[in-house]
Amino acid sequence: MAHNSTNNVQIFNKPRVELHLHLDGAIKPETILYFGKKRGIKLPADSVEGLMSYVGYDEPRNLTQFLEIFSYYMPAIAGDRDAVRRIAYELVEMKAKEGVIYFEARYSPHLFANSNVNPIPWNQKPGDLTPDEVVHLVNQGFQEGEKYFKIKARSILCCMRHMPEWSTEIVSLCKKYRNEGVVGMDLAGDESLNCKLNSGHCIAYEEAFKSGIHRTVHAGEVGPSTVVKEAVDVLKAERIGHGYHTIDDFCLYKRLLKLNIHFEICPWSSYLTGACDPDLMKHPAIRFREDKANYSLNTDDPLIFKSTLDKDYRIASKYMGFTEDDFMEANINGARSCFLPDKEKEELLLTLYETYGMVQSTVC
Ligand SMILES: [Zn+2]
Repeated sequence: MAHNSTNNVQIFNKPRVELHLHLDGAIKPETILYFGKKRGIKLPADSVEGLMSYVGYDEPRNLTQFLEIFSYYMPAIAGDRDAVRRIAYELVEMKAKEGVIYFEARYSPHLFANSNVNPIPWNQKPGDLTPDEVVHLVNQGFQEGEKYFKIKARSILCCMRHMPEWSTEIVSLCKKYRNEGVVGMDLAGDESLNCKLNSGHCIAYEEAFKSGIHRTVHAGEVGPSTVVKEAVDVLKAERIGHGYHTIDDFCLYKRLLKLNIHFEICPWSSYLTGACDPDLMKHPAIRFREDKANYSLNTDDPLIFKSTLDKDYRIASKYMGFTEDDFMEANINGARSCFLPDKEKEELLLTLYETYGMVQSTVC
């Protein structure tokens, strides 16, 4: 879509923060092929181009088609310790190349497991990789990546809307690994499944709130503003994944602006999932920017959307009128609303202020 001469020039060549990114939607196709072959697991194709013709998006598709994509490649990764550790490590490498200095990647540990999970996902045979160990392996992969690539990586554990039975374990794992890289909890999946009928999520989010576990929720992406309302009022979400449809309810939108709720905006993703008007010049991000809302720019699922963070920044620049100042603002918003402990958050903010030329470096 962006076909002018600025295509390959990095827009906003300064440190970035990314808060909304799925580990299972950010795997290198080469790694999927490698583990498919190694483990004798059949994939729809045996070359990167072939695999991407199944996995990658070129034009908007619906949610059912989107969810089907994971079933093409997750069997090659799920249930394998080396694969889980390696995709976490490689994500740090990928993000370091994109100029990201801090990111939070989210995933459902249950969807990588083949033991202590019911039902066992992706038609795997029962094995011995539990959701608990998956979290441990991702933490390890991130820590190895951090050492090598000198950036910071943390994770958010996802509850899945269609599996409220898994949510209690999610909050337990958030607590267990809160000092080893897990910084928060998310709720992902089909937004039409509300929480009143799936009380497992409400119980888990209540426990997270009581225990000081940070909370974000996918809401108002494809679903209506009522899902956002439920996320904030019932689940006590501090951040909203996407949240585009919040603006359909002016009272709610005004209230969330006042509450300084953070919106994790994913421009290219929202185009391909049909979450917003296909005319990017009418994207809600423009309204968020004009109203000085608290939002950040993110990739969501770069494997499936065949993108890097540069693509989202280019779209914001080309179709939404974002300037250097707007990008700085979005990244500072991201740092302020990230789930790091206060002291680490201050350090991150200071790095941004210094590299953005907003404060003098402190020279002793
Ligand atoms: Zn997402």
